[in-house]
Amino acid sequence: AKDLGKNRFMVFENRMHEQLLTRLDQENRLREAVHRGELRLHLQPVFAVQEGRVVGAEALVRWQDPFRGLQQPGSFIPLAEETGMIIEIDRWILLEACRTLRHWQVESPWTAPAWVSVNLSAAHLDLPDLTDHVAYALATTGLSPQCLVLELTETVMMRDVAVTSARLQELRELGVRIAIDDFGTGYSSLGYLRDIPVDVLKLDRSFITGLVGNGRQQELVSAIVQLGHTLGLRVVAEGVEDADELNLLTVMGCKFVQGYHLGRPEPAHQLYERLTTPALH
Ligand code: C2E
Ligand code: CA
Ligand code: CA
Ligand code: CA
Repeated sequence: AKDLGKNRFMVFENRMHEQLLTRLDQENRLREAVHRGELRLHLQPVFAVQEGRVVGAEALVRWQDPFRGLQQPGSFIPLAEETGMIIEIDRWILLEACRTLRHWQVESPWTAPAWVSVNLSAAHLDLPDLTDHVAYALATTGLSPQCLVLELTETVMMRDVAVTSARLQELRELGVRIAIDDFGTGYSSLGYLRDIPVDVLKLDRSFITGLVGNGRQQELVSAIVQLGHTLGLRVVAEGVEDADELNLLTVMGCKFVQGYHLGRPEPAHQLYERLTTPALH
């Protein structure tokens, strides 16, 4: 009971802090967060349906705010994007993700995931040194390029096609793969699949939610999976939350799945421990 009281007081104190923070404070503190080492790398496993094991992991940023505790990206990524701080944040995550996977591969080659995927905001495509930076991250960590996937949302495809495809082609020439994130939500024409070089489609969670019992939605998802395969792309279904969804996707021939049913995002070392300690699965 004593602990409960203490927790309640902390919740109260945290709320007060939140209210006292102006946007400017937040902006400054986010700016410092990178330098103070307050960002955290979380990883969510990606499963290969047929092999029934973890083959990849998605890097998702968290902010260990000393005042408010662990912050989800929804609470600071929008501000980071508005202010351009997202570039630095994404670059930090990229480096940390490459370093982590490389470390696992050395320590535990049989259980390490084959790839790690990293989210990049659209703003990166305006920077001429994007490819150099990715090359630097690979060189400095020793991770091989085939082990890195860069995720860009579909809205990126609505930008200048010539610039976008040139940048993505440069990246692919390094040997890294490109994924379209949140596929199906960008309200963009499918024409970009013809013009823009990509390797992976990540089918947005909104297509998976409500899949069970909705025949029309099942036809749609099944058609998208086939479209991806016909184009030689890898298709990953996001947001798989239960066994029924997983079974449907398996029947549809979807080979890769990600979602709470298979594993939530967690601190990198925690995922590593689970993967290397089969008894705890
Ligand atoms: P996203 O790239 O689409 O990442 C997937 C999000 O869905 C993650 O939320 C993940 O925790 C959540 N998720 C995974 N499986 C399930 C599920 O079964 N059910 C439900 N309801 N949700 C699930 P998170 O970590 O809060 O990230 C939200 C978004 O923030 C990401 O969406 C991405 O757009 C952005 N983000 C996260 N990390 C980074 C980063 O390092 N850089 C950039 N630029 N954006 C990031
Ligand atoms: Ca993503
Ligand atoms: Ca997504
Ligand atoms: Ca998203």
